[in-house]
Amino acid sequence: MNEQLVVLGVDIGGTKLAVGSVDASGRILATARASTPVREGPQRVLSLLIDLCKDVLAATLRQAGNYRVVAVGVGCGGPLDPERGIIYAPPNLPGWEEVHLAEDLTDRLGYPVYVENDANAAALGELRFGGGRGIKNFVYLTISTGIGSGIVIGGKLYRGENGNAGEIGHMCVAYDGRPCHCGSRGCLEAYASGPSVAMRAREAAAKDGNTLLLKLAGSVEAIRPETVVAAVKQGDPLATRVWEETTFVLGVGIANVINIFNPRLVLLGGGLTQAGDLLFAPVRRVALSRAFARLTRVVDIVPASLGEMVGVLGAAAVAFDRLEQRVMNVGNVI
Ligand SMILES: [Zn+2]
Repeated sequence: MNEQLVVLGVDIGGTKLAVGSVDASGRILATARASTPVREGPQRVLSLLIDLCKDVLAATLRQAGNYRVVAVGVGCGGPLDPERGIIYAPPNLPGWEEVHLAEDLTDRLGYPVYVENDANAAALGELRFGGGRGIKNFVYLTISTGIGSGIVIGGKLYRGENGNAGEIGHMCVAYDGRPCHCGSRGCLEAYASGPSVAMRAREAAAKDGNTLLLKLAGSVEAIRPETVVAAVKQGDPLATRVWEETTFVLGVGIANVINIFNPRLVLLGGGLTQAGDLLFAPVRRVALSRAFARLTRVVDIVPASLGEMVGVLGAAAVAFDRLEQRVMNVGNVI
């Protein structure tokens, strides 16, 4: 039987860890997941991660098939140095001041380890296994706790000068707008991330108690993005105003993305996109009316295709990508 190359995809999030073994076609062979013990610091998280990796390795090698695990890809919140695999204090992982992730995992697992920003990893996952296959130019946006993005230009991930390009969540959409946790104002993320939607809905409900939001959530503090979506579906005027502002600002942000990159696709993933057409229809209308017509003619704004497996598949795509680059570099030397 032909030997099949397999990589481990490791998704390090602030709330959960996921590991999967993935073959070159994007088939997931085995998975393991756990909650991130984020308060216990990086060493505890890393030991748990090693255990998950070992479980997945064992489950993969038990299967009938001639599998050879060759590398580990990791997607993790930035800022980070993708070349050296060092994490620099991501907001979702407190205490990770300077974690030499690639080196540490390589020592403990015995495989080469490649690290990438999680949104970039997701874009690589869509490019290799998902809705971005065969597409030269696209932008992937994840709209969840924050707004992250990965930019693919000419079939390749665009990383920028030191690996941190694509902070589309911190694009300014209102120059004197709401303060953002990054220290700036009027960022897309300050309006359209899940927590920002909930926060704006809480502010509005605190001022005007005549809203279904309070009945659905029980209290102002308990309002979540899902509550807003549920109230909009039932025609609540206050929730609808909050949602219209959200989709308007998101549409304006995406119009900017279209004008700058002239992409074939804008792929939207992350928790907020579960609102479906309630989100996509107004976002498309605004984005397509605000961007240049020659650019809007060629673009589609569509849901990302990998769903909740995007973390593992994206990290696996990072590993396959870097392995291929290494082979090409060796080829060039010879
Ligand atoms: Zn910001």
